[in-house]
Amino acid sequence: MRTRFAPSPTGPLHLGHAYSALLAHDMARAAGGTFLLRIEDIDQSRARPEWEAQIYDDLAWLGVTWDAPPMRQSDRLPSYRAALSDLWTKGLLYPCTCTRRDITAAVSAPQEGAGPIYGPDGLVYPGTCRPDTPPSGPIPEDAALRLNMRAALAHLATPDRFTFEDETCGQVLVSADELISEVGDIVLSRRDFPGSYHLSVVLDDAAQGITHVIRGEDLFEATKIHVILQRLLGLPTPAYHHHRLIRDDTGKRLAKRDDARAIAKYRADGATPEDIRRLVGL
Ligand code: GLU
Repeated sequence: MRTRFAPSPTGPLHLGHAYSALLAHDMARAAGGTFLLRIEDIDQSRARPEWEAQIYDDLAWLGVTWDAPPMRQSDRLPSYRAALSDLWTKGLLYPCTCTRRDITAAVSAPQEGAGPIYGPDGLVYPGTCRPDTPPSGPIPEDAALRLNMRAALAHLATPDRFTFEDETCGQVLVSADELISEVGDIVLSRRDFPGSYHLSVVLDDAAQGITHVIRGEDLFEATKIHVILQRLLGLPTPAYHHHRLIRDDTGKRLAKRDDARAIAKYRADGATPEDIRRLVGL
């Protein structure tokens, strides 16, 4: 078993992160497996070295140890570029210059049938920039790149359905219809970065040889995207364990801005790592 914890250094780790890291770490240790760390710093406008340093410090204090130097996404651009180039050559990507506002306006235009559909990445893209034939020539530098979901499904030999193993739900089936209507043409490369969360996470899990992805159930829907990307890129699909989320007293899941629940704050107030384990129900 090889698993990982993949925090973004954009704020302090809070109780929810502690739960995720401890759970994955405990499972790896119990199985005699490997536990790895990955710093997901593709959002260069928000990632800070001081948050990364705090992540190492908080994890060490919690008793979490990792078995290799951490992988950092900002070091992985050549791999992301190579995968994008592969998908571009296969005719599965197209450039998109729509802003969030353009997309909202397009999906709110009066039309017959159902209203806007929200997928794992927000509003399902209405297809404004989708070309009728695959674009040719070099990859444009100044636009986001979207996956043409219909073309991607048609490219695969058995496009009718995908599966992944989830420890809580068992085998999860993902149909082609669902991918087209409820996920749609997701962004795989941003205008400011040659990659996106979905592309990077899939390539990095494969590069780190991850066999079990242990992460919050807020990412359950995103796993459907990851499974099709793994198929398109010829990568193995790990087993998934989507765990419960740690919530505040009002039942809302914790976010980065919940500094009151930051591990650093508990530490400063004199809590022990055992207190943190108790607080998250471990
Ligand atoms: N970087 C993501 C986060 O901090 C986690 C991604 C993952 O575990 O796949 O929420």
